[in-house]
Amino acid sequence: MAPRSCALCNDARAILKRPKTGQQICKDCFFKVFETEVHNTITEANLFKPGDRVAIGASGGKDSTVLAYVMKTLNERYHYDLELFLLSIDEGITGYRDDSLETVKRNQEQYDMPLKILSYDELYGWTMDRIVSTIGKKNNCTFCGVFRRQALDRGATALHVDHIVTGHNADDIAETVLMNIMRGDIARLGRCTAICTKGEDTIRRSKPFKYAYEKEIVMYAYFKKLDYFSTECIYSPDAYRGHARAFLKDLEAARPSAIIDIIHSGEAFEVKEEIKATQKVQQTCKRCGYMSSNDLCKACTLLEGLERGMSAAVITDRARRKLEAEGPTPADLRTIPFFHPPTASASPAVEVESTA
Ligand code: SF4
Ligand code: ZN
Ligand code: ZN
Repeated sequence: MAPRSCALCNDARAILKRPKTGQQICKDCFFKVFETEVHNTITEANLFKPGDRVAIGASGGKDSTVLAYVMKTLNERYHYDLELFLLSIDEGITGYRDDSLETVKRNQEQYDMPLKILSYDELYGWTMDRIVSTIGKKNNCTFCGVFRRQALDRGATALHVDHIVTGHNADDIAETVLMNIMRGDIARLGRCTAICTKGEDTIRRSKPFKYAYEKEIVMYAYFKKLDYFSTECIYSPDAYRGHARAFLKDLEAARPSAIIDIIHSGEAFEVKEEIKATQKVQQTCKRCGYMSSNDLCKACTLLEGLERGMSAAVITDRARRKLEAEGPTPADLRTIPFFHPPTASASPAVEVESTA
């Protein structure tokens, strides 16, 4: 059978089947459509303005490595005029994050971007290794997720950036839509498809890969021969998300557009005013100054639980009340350094990691 020619340029030989559309195309056309779609996502959502300082949340994994490469490519090609940084969080997971951070350090040189690494140990005084050895593997991802979110904001503030971009892809967002439906979490369902979010005083966060399929990101990394780390975290990922992922993969196998269709369904949900009204008002954490909807932010509550040896109990509101009933907070309790929210006149002088 004669080799099939590319469905887009009709010239070169088709060497891959595009997961999103099923089209048989050549390598160059794949690069072009993938990059152009991300560019369209960025421009249609008006994500950046010239002169923005943008941190790329970099884990060394495929999504963030491809994001760093594509952001650099588009910034140069379309003259976005952005200043790009790599921002990594070291959760303290031996055999996983230490190795993946070595990849980020190489990316720093390959892409010529300054890198900042912030660790849970320096911020919270606990590594994930120590948290898991204390609380086991049940709620570890809850701790890790809360700690990472705050660490990213603090790292970004230290870099004086306007914006954090993360490598969340279409599969991640569709999974989150499904999970929020399965949990009946309507308030989160209303927010989880937003391409860009911004708290009262936090830095903007966005997802330029919102419509990029995971399979295409892997394909892009493979054909571009990008240097990334592919091992999964050793502390088993969120089991509930695993079910949503398996379900989504089955749907995708039957109909590739399922991923985008679920995102569009999520976007079409409107949160009723009375549900919005039950959402708590944002304030700042009395202990560390980070934004919070309670007196204490989630990270301070979780840290207090760890420090007081009640970690497994601080996840729910009821358990939090139990913690309060245990007595007043000890005066010598370890706390998170006070957070000073970014100001409009941020200084560009920042300290970044050097691999030299
Ligand atoms: Fe953290 Fe859980 Fe992700 Fe591992 S799988 S990095 S513990 S959130
Ligand atoms: Zn082609
Ligand atoms: Zn706090």
